Amino acid sequence: MAETSGDRTPFPNPADAGAGSTAPWEPPHPVVIVGGGFGGLYTALALAARRDPPPVLLVEPNERFVFLPLLYELLSDELRAWEVAPRYASLLASRGIAWLRDRVASVDAAAGTVTTTQGRCLPYSRLVVATGSRANDFGIPGVGGHALQFRSLEDVERLQALVQRLRAQQRPLQRLAIVGAGASGVELACKLADLLQGHAVLELVEQGAELLPEARAFNREQARAALLRRDVRLRTHTRVEGVEAGRVRLRHEPAGGGAANTEHLNVDGVVWTAGVTVAAPAITPVAATDRRGRLLCHPDLSLVQHPHLYALGDVAHVADADGEPLAGTAQVAFQQADNLADNLIRSLAGEPTTPFRWNDLGEMISLGIGEASLTGLGLTLAGSAAYRLRQLTYLGRLPGLPHQLRVAAGWLSDLGRPLFATGEPAGTPPPRP
Ligand SMILES: Cc1cc2nc3c(=O)[nH]c(=O)nc-3n(C[C@H](O)[C@H](O)[C@H](O)COP(=O)(O)OP(=O)(O)OC[C@H]3O[C@@H](n4cnc5c(N)ncnc54)[C@H](O)[C@@H]3O)c2cc1C
Repeated sequence: MAETSGDRTPFPNPADAGAGSTAPWEPPHPVVIVGGGFGGLYTALALAARRDPPPVLLVEPNERFVFLPLLYELLSDELRAWEVAPRYASLLASRGIAWLRDRVASVDAAAGTVTTTQGRCLPYSRLVVATGSRANDFGIPGVGGHALQFRSLEDVERLQALVQRLRAQQRPLQRLAIVGAGASGVELACKLADLLQGHAVLELVEQGAELLPEARAFNREQARAALLRRDVRLRTHTRVEGVEAGRVRLRHEPAGGGAANTEHLNVDGVVWTAGVTVAAPAITPVAATDRRGRLLCHPDLSLVQHPHLYALGDVAHVADADGEPLAGTAQVAFQQADNLADNLIRSLAGEPTTPFRWNDLGEMISLGIGEASLTGLGLTLAGSAAYRLRQLTYLGRLPGLPHQLRVAAGWLSDLGRPLFATGEPAGTPPPRP
């Protein structure tokens, strides 16, 4: 299908094929959604919930969707894998959404097709690019080979194995370095400190001047206090220059311009949370991007110069009311999904689309086992009450009502039961929310 801005014909009506036309009726091409994360999966679910939804094909290589904001609770065993990472097969069952377990390698926007790494060529009526982001090692030597990441179930398992090893071997001066004091680094440091219970020193390394530079002041202060209570060492103005087996090379550049120094720190592990880069497939003709590689989008989430292509989430550059690109967060992707589902249906029907309007609902961070901090909608709250409110808020954000109900039922049946039924506790076990 050729892509032209004037081609507004959605799916052909089978009845039209017989009326003066000799062409046999062909089923309409689906809306193809590339990537089943917050942007892609929630767009597919929102489309499926509309009246007369178009055919939808989700292309996603992984077996399970991962609700990333709750990955820390999976690490600490406060939540279970099926709750945080439900299978696509179960999420999409009876929704009328086709799922192809494959990866899109390239997009031919002129032909209206995508090609997958397994060699399939798939036509689309509209294409949604929702391929998110991946860890960025900024070319620093050794990060790829020696540092752990924290974004997948496999990462959680690796980190849990490391925690178990450190707790079991009880050598003096065991040490873990977490690189990046953004939300991921801070949340991870607090959970790890609770899990390790003094069996290792935790170093939180940040090249900037402070932790959580983009967070609300209240959450930053709560985070600072939570790290202090757990004896996590925060090293600001410190850059990682290299990672080797068993050690990390740090460069400290004092704020006032004093003499910089380099230090080799012996570590039992390094966890890299220091930045992300986008993961868009190759698009021809080339799509316009910003300097970070994000696809430049119109306010209705369609790509600049590609009216039948849309993007959302981390891979999309969508400007807020001040012209600044919206942050790459689940909250943004989640809201965009609903708007995009409407716009896809409007576009297919030849109707005008509507701009995405970001509604900042606030910010929540987990700060150790059973603790969190949140600000938003006129509320500031920290501690265990914030932890419970955060869990309940995320319960309402889990993909699809059936999964929400399954998780809620599990939590209700857990009420009153200790989190760690046998064996030694990993931290201060809270009751499940
Ligand atoms: C540990 C962690 C905690 C976080 N906590 C929070 C939080 O508390 N609050 C918050 O707002 N945000 C949080 N975020 C950020 C948030 O998760 C992301 O902003 C959000 O996931 C972006 O959604 P997305 O759909 O753009 O990308 P993703 O959710 O990353 O999904 C991208 C999907 O695309 C798939 N994919 C990639 N390339 C291809 C391809 N070529 N073909 C097919 N599929 C492909 C991937 O497998 C993946 O499933 C967190 C992130 C991490 C890593």
